[in-house]
Amino acid sequence: MKTYLVTGAAGFIGSNFVKYLLYRKYKDEDIKVIVLDALTYAGNYGTIKDDVDGKRCVFVHGDIRDRELVDSLFADNDIDYVVNFAAESHVDRSIENPQLFLETNILGTQNLLDAARRAWVTGKDATGYPTWKEGKRFHQVSTDEVYGSLGADGYFTEETPLCPHSPYSASKTSADLIVKAYHDTYHMPVTITRCSNNYGPYHFPEKLIPLIINNILEGKPLPVYGKGDNVRDWLYVEDHCKAIDLVVREGRDGEVYNVGGHNEMKNIDIVKLTIKTIHDMMAEDKGLRKILKKQVIDANGDIDIRWINDNLITFVTDRLGHDQRYAIDPTKIKNELGWLPETMFADGIVKTIRWNLEHQDWVNEVTSGEYTKYYEQMYGNR
Ligand code: NAD
Repeated sequence: MKTYLVTGAAGFIGSNFVKYLLYRKYKDEDIKVIVLDALTYAGNYGTIKDDVDGKRCVFVHGDIRDRELVDSLFADNDIDYVVNFAAESHVDRSIENPQLFLETNILGTQNLLDAARRAWVTGKDATGYPTWKEGKRFHQVSTDEVYGSLGADGYFTEETPLCPHSPYSASKTSADLIVKAYHDTYHMPVTITRCSNNYGPYHFPEKLIPLIINNILEGKPLPVYGKGDNVRDWLYVEDHCKAIDLVVREGRDGEVYNVGGHNEMKNIDIVKLTIKTIHDMMAEDKGLRKILKKQVIDANGDIDIRWINDNLITFVTDRLGHDQRYAIDPTKIKNELGWLPETMFADGIVKTIRWNLEHQDWVNEVTSGEYTKYYEQMYGNR
């Protein structure tokens, strides 16, 4: 039996990863997943509660920076894999409050590494390096933002120099370097994946795609930074989860693997495509229209694409230090582990919109309270 400690799994990607392990990849296998999550504004117990059964999946409400707690999880369980998703993850918030990002993303990672080291080291070899229990792995979930920004051409490879610009990406870069240092210094069995922008179910609505979907439904302004010409590479979240699982199980110790969708799009094009996709879905399935606010509907009852483009798309002051373009070269993970993105954007966006339409209770729950204050501070009371 393999036991995972998955941190931050009440958030977007971590929760998708846990569901992928439990119900897809290892549905007939004896695995145990311990979820450790502090339930910050971005974490929601409701996202994971149906998965928690006390046997295959256990939930622990706590902080990755809490040494005593993390040590106790290793003492009480024979943990094989740590998969560290827990992080402060929103660039805009890192510009407002960098310190929290440094504390969680760097010191939290280091606390997990130390707890794993205390639990997994068995002794020393003849050269003085620690020896490790067999089959253990610490996996760090990182981002392409550690590489900085690209011009119009080229791709990030694993050899691209690290050059982060935002406090968020600088904190993730620092965490990557600490993870690598534990490999180089202690021969700790670690791996790192650096992924492009994800989209899919359970995506917190402060991020571009779910924000746009929900604001279209609500008839609210669709904020787009600058001229909307920043380019991101979008990957469906389940494809990312598959890549992480492969690297955790089959990746080489001390290695970094880039994970990308080969799906580069300008932010403004994402916004327009999302509007058009909602239009097409609702033209086909008229029952879905009942959720819409009156102002976004034309005389035929269809989504009024032109009205939305003219009235709701709102170009807002660009993000400070905004990276122009990210694009990943995933050749290494393809060649070594046989991973490829499987979900075309045209299909992934339909699944994502449908999920949002069918989970409005979840959306309402996570956007109430603290998020409302944040939204008003960012975009005004609209
Ligand atoms: P998210 O913000 O949706 O979730 C983060 C989770 O971590 C939340 O559940 C939160 O409660 C938890 N958390 C925060 N601080 C914690 C702490 N101190 N202790 C325990 N739990 C804590 O983030 P996400 O989008 O799911 O991203 C997950 C990871 O993937 C992050 O490390 C992020 O840097 C990385 N990543 C994200 C993307 C993306 O497009 N979302 C792309 C590449 C990499």
